[in-house]
Amino acid sequence: MAHQRVAIVTGGARGIGAGIARRLSDDGMKVAILDLVAVDAEKAAAEIAEVGGETLGVEVDVSDAEQVTAAVDAVADALGAPTVLINNAGITRDNLLHKMPASDWDLVMNVHLRGAFLMTQATQKHMIEAGWGRVVNMSSMSALGNRGQANYAAAKAGLQGFTKTAAIELGRFGVTVNSIAPGFIVTDMTAATAERMGVDFREMQRAAAKQIPVGRVGQPADIAHAASFFCSDAAGFVSGQVLYVSGGPNT
Ligand code: NAP
Repeated sequence: MAHQRVAIVTGGARGIGAGIARRLSDDGMKVAILDLVAVDAEKAAAEIAEVGGETLGVEVDVSDAEQVTAAVDAVADALGAPTVLINNAGITRDNLLHKMPASDWDLVMNVHLRGAFLMTQATQKHMIEAGWGRVVNMSSMSALGNRGQANYAAAKAGLQGFTKTAAIELGRFGVTVNSIAPGFIVTDMTAATAERMGVDFREMQRAAAKQIPVGRVGQPADIAHAASFFCSDAAGFVSGQVLYVSGGPNT
């Protein structure tokens, strides 16, 4: 039997991360779900195990260096050296620029940027030892600018720069680093945005779909398919790229 790769998906307990975790398991990988709350991570891992996957749920705050080191060590001990990393954990703290507390700026930067940096730093040694690795960083359409998201847009644009630099540094070790920039995807995050704006979530989806060339909003499986491609063996010549998965060129 072929060597079974070990993947880590941060923020894998729900939404896009959960979709990616399921897909990578279906692709034949062992999958560790790292998330803020232990029971959520364990539940998501158990759901994949029920359909035959080998999984692990680990509690971690990706912005905490000590927790990140401990979590990556725990994955390596339980499943084997992680050589696939999906930096997906994310939060929003939306506000217009003049009303945004600096603490919300810091929080968003810490989870997305510091989190991706710490996780990549902690896992790259396993990839370099293996002479093979795949990193996928979750950016967003918002990287192009989005009203009320100065913090989030800056973090998501920052992840694109991080992606390109890590691709340059790690390429010679057989490691590719790419980024996915999703458009509107139906998850708890977009549901919370609807609630905050006081609009019905289904109505919000209908309105969004009208603006999207393919005529529908996205699902976690749409993003999981792109992640599966970047993590595949055959994608070894694709690195440092940002793939907008948004149903059109700029939606
Ligand atoms: P989601 O449903 O809110 O899931 C995000 C997950 O990340 C949650 O399980 C959350 O845990 C976890 N998380 C948050 N902070 C964390 C931390 N410090 N350490 C570890 N885990 C943490 O979001 P989603 O919609 O699936 O989004 C996933 C990624 O895609 C995010 O990076 C998001 O910015 C990006 N994205 C989403 C969309 C979209 O339309 N949904 C579009 C573009 C990009 P808790 O639930 O316990 O907080």
